[in-house]
Amino acid sequence: MASLAKRVELINESATLAVANKAAEMRREGHDIIGFGAGEPDFDTPEHIKAAAKKALDAGETGYAKPTHGIPQARAAVCEKFLRDNGLKYEPDQTIVTVGGKEALYLACLSLLEPGDEVILPAPYWVSFPEQVNLCGATVVYVAPKPGAGLHITPDQLAAALTPRTKVFIFNSPSNPGGFAYTPEETRAFAKVLEGRDVIVFSDEMYDRLRYGERREHLSFATISPHWYEHTITFNAASKSYAMTGWRVGYAAGPAKIIKAMAKLQSQTTSGTATFIQHALAAALTGDQTCVETMRAEFERRGRHMHERLTALAGVTCVQPTGAFYCFPDVLGTYARLGVTTSQGFCEALIEKAHVALVPGGAFGLDTHARLSFANSMDHIDKGLDRIERLLGRRA
Ligand code: PLP
Repeated sequence: MASLAKRVELINESATLAVANKAAEMRREGHDIIGFGAGEPDFDTPEHIKAAAKKALDAGETGYAKPTHGIPQARAAVCEKFLRDNGLKYEPDQTIVTVGGKEALYLACLSLLEPGDEVILPAPYWVSFPEQVNLCGATVVYVAPKPGAGLHITPDQLAAALTPRTKVFIFNSPSNPGGFAYTPEETRAFAKVLEGRDVIVFSDEMYDRLRYGERREHLSFATISPHWYEHTITFNAASKSYAMTGWRVGYAAGPAKIIKAMAKLQSQTTSGTATFIQHALAAALTGDQTCVETMRAEFERRGRHMHERLTALAGVTCVQPTGAFYCFPDVLGTYARLGVTTSQGFCEALIEKAHVALVPGGAFGLDTHARLSFANSMDHIDKGLDRIERLLGRRA
């Protein structure tokens, strides 16, 4: 048997897998396990978007996408979305349509990163960021928030992480798994720290439409100044805002030179997203936007409720969710009582003793935390939280 390429060893198998496997095994044994793991909306894709895909299929839109990096209608829709929602004026040749947001991020890594390059990544982070950087042979420089900082890193911490090798800063706001968004003031302060450096910002704005609370304005990094317009790639997808995770369609916009490189790599790898799905993307981005607000409002209601219940638990603190659809509580205060020392141990104890599945924070770079998705019905949330409360008890 031939040996596997070394790059396979460079990346970690998902640490979330052990808990997911345990949950699957217990379900097979007949246990009723309540899962909070899934990072996807529990809503179905809105009808008008499905109708656009069906119409495209009926019209025979079943060949390769031409060009592979996005049919003109889809890239025009991407330009319309960025202008309407983000105040960003892009031309179609500055945009690319991809197989989910994930492909766009990976193509950008492949286009820019080489061994020796450093990528600054604030924790907690989405699990694929470090692995995509590792696959390019570049080095991840992690920046973890200080305890009590509400999961936010500071501009001073960013400054301390910079070296002459820094090539990319990954900025994901609203954050998966943090469930919070950086304020426009913080975002501008990060930009100021990076000024005068030859750094490209990957601004992952997958959750830009899913904001909660009183301050809901989203500042796109690329709008900060002409310099940042030239040095930022903005990533987004239909996945979260339009409940389209399984359609696998995302997009990005940025400097034409980098987008062109991404398109070249895409043309020799995936050949892009299916043509009829690109028509659905165009319908999602340019059609009636009421569906986004309906889902957002419901997520907000559920997030507030989940947060209230989590903060009532003994040994648990939790940042109020202001974006995405996750609560990311600090559960360190429960470890001694449960006889565990890691977030993995915490999640295993919760599955075994409360029959509730969470994702260990260690997978996202913070081993004192765990992630719960509130893209679940209120009933589901209450049933799961009742069980957790029976195990952990309420705070005094
Ligand atoms: N970026 C972040 C922060 C995410 O949470 C996700 C999905 O979970 C992605 C990118 C990838 O999105 P997609 O499913 O569109 O590939």
